[in-house]
Amino acid sequence: MNYHNYYPVDVVNGPGTRCTLFVSGCVHQCRGCYNQSTWRLDSGHLFTPEMEAQIIRDLNDTRIPRRGLSLSGGDPLHPANVADVLRLVKRVRAACPGKDIWLWSGYVLGELSPDQLAVVEYIDVLIDGKYVQAERDPSLLWRGSANQVIHYFHRGELKC
Ligand code: SF4
Repeated sequence: MNYHNYYPVDVVNGPGTRCTLFVSGCVHQCRGCYNQSTWRLDSGHLFTPEMEAQIIRDLNDTRIPRRGLSLSGGDPLHPANVADVLRLVKRVRAACPGKDIWLWSGYVLGELSPDQLAVVEYIDVLIDGKYVQAERDPSLLWRGSANQVIHYFHRGELKC
């Protein structure tokens, strides 16, 4: 997997102070996408074991308490990213107790493959759906257009 950006301290992408990873690769080609440079899978930088370890360290850094990890892109549920993202979210669950995981994807929850759903089992919140310019609403929290849905989970079980 490649990634475009990693913000070790982020207060914009999700609630509270967070670590945020923008992965590379997206097939959705939404009109008006603000992040077109992330579409190619081979863009950005290689997501190395060192980078993964850095995220775990940052999440557990008590000097700057983080509420959790945000995964965006690009699309963390791009089929080519799923294996690495699954390994990451499993590791965060095991090594960073009390931290939440938010994930943004252009795929819709009801259409996810078994491999993509395996990732969902480990996250707390999924914001799903493509960005639809005609439904753009800047007043929405954590999403760009009204068609996108915020799904809250608790270890894979739908909360609301
Ligand atoms: S899903 Fe997100 S990254 Fe992909 S094209 Fe749409 S807005 Fe851009």
